[in-house]
Amino acid sequence: MTDNTIERRSFLKRLGLSSAILVGGLSSSRIIAETTDGVLVRSDKDYGKFPVERLKQNCIPYDMDSEILKQMSEKRNVFSRNVWDPLRLNRPETEENITYENLVKGKGEIPDQTRLDYALMAASWKYANMDYGGVYSWELQDGMVGGMGLEKLGTWDPEELDMTWNEATAAVKHAALFYGASTAGVAELNPLWLYSDRFSPDRKDRSRALPVRPGDERFGLENDVWYIPESMNRVVAVAFEEDFYGICNSPGRLASAATGNGYSRMAFTASTLADFIRALGYRAIPAGNGIGLSIPMAIDAGLGELGRNGILINPKFGPRIRLAKVITDMPLIPDSPIKFGVTEFCEDCMLCAEHCPSGSIPDGKRTWSGTSVSNNPGVLKWYIHPETCYDFNGFSCSNCKRVCPFNKPNNSWLHKMIREFIELKAGSLNKIMISLDQASGYGEQLSDMDFWKMDGNQSITAREKME
Ligand code: SF4
Ligand code: SF4
Repeated sequence: MTDNTIERRSFLKRLGLSSAILVGGLSSSRIIAETTDGVLVRSDKDYGKFPVERLKQNCIPYDMDSEILKQMSEKRNVFSRNVWDPLRLNRPETEENITYENLVKGKGEIPDQTRLDYALMAASWKYANMDYGGVYSWELQDGMVGGMGLEKLGTWDPEELDMTWNEATAAVKHAALFYGASTAGVAELNPLWLYSDRFSPDRKDRSRALPVRPGDERFGLENDVWYIPESMNRVVAVAFEEDFYGICNSPGRLASAATGNGYSRMAFTASTLADFIRALGYRAIPAGNGIGLSIPMAIDAGLGELGRNGILINPKFGPRIRLAKVITDMPLIPDSPIKFGVTEFCEDCMLCAEHCPSGSIPDGKRTWSGTSVSNNPGVLKWYIHPETCYDFNGFSCSNCKRVCPFNKPNNSWLHKMIREFIELKAGSLNKIMISLDQASGYGEQLSDMDFWKMDGNQSITAREKME
């Protein structure tokens, strides 16, 4: 340990003596201290009010067992299994029944399930289901953009504009925000996070899965194998904030509307960002849930940590985000993964497990594997049960986001305190903070009619509310 390097824990303890300074917040990014694994920084812009530890490039904020961890087959995830797995095909169908029960039999008078709620939900999902054959398609374009002839100019070099690759990377992230992302990060692509196969590659045979393999310069489909060049070794992870009050309506239809709105924005932004990169002469594969696992890619790209609820927790937006990604051979500069005390806080907090109506979230310690074939073993984490989660009301439930103490606007004194105590890792105080959080009324369900009576400007999708 150098004179300037201190153990994070002891540093934070010392910092606790003057935590009032932290509560006030700072307006720009600055390094507070060096830690054993990186540096502690504050950046309202990137991280909200949290002090965040930016880890060195070789440090990752999770433990994995390389003997166990393998690429996951896309055929094994719950969405795919709903198409081919007899155990899933025979599940009770929920969607139509719920609509019939609520709108026809209930005559639209059931709270949180009204015609107005359904209309918002239905329209929100309009651009969501486009993983194959829609805006996410990449295989027919050789990863390049059509039109305008920009691809004929070869690959763009930032030096043309006296820019460094760091500045070029910032420009790509700027473009991601321009196209609608709430935040973006870059990581070196870990091939373990790519699916080992591509499920349902065409509509003729939806139970088909074709292997995905690294290709030298091969790109796309050859002899029933999908190739992705090894040179495509960067991923731009993009996150989309979901509407705070919509999620607060969970498990009502407005929460599904917030989710669908996130999915639709994912499709627009990932596909336009991919075309931006292609217009610069590089290859790009945009994806929502397809191609690979978004959460570990986003963690590697510095967008957050994994929570007990199985969701990425971002310092600024908490768990209230959706993720998409663009895989590329543009030599972007990776961001640092981050830590801000999520795992330690989740060890004390059970709110998502207690409020999960389907019992899908474990209330014990982290494990190396889960109980479902849709879990991919080999990472120490909380494995949720995707089948029971999916089967509870399809996409309308977001209780595990609604009740999470990280899912808060940044403008209440209570939540500023919570963030400071989380960061101080004052374990004995976590439980008091969680009780205060509950007593304050945050996390309770917001009725649909209270949502509809609001001025739309109150929606926390408006980014300024998070400052
Ligand atoms: S979405 Fe609902 S059912 Fe699924 S894990 Fe979260 S709380 Fe449980
Ligand atoms: S509700 Fe509590 S345990 Fe669950 S993810 Fe949020 S902080 Fe962690």
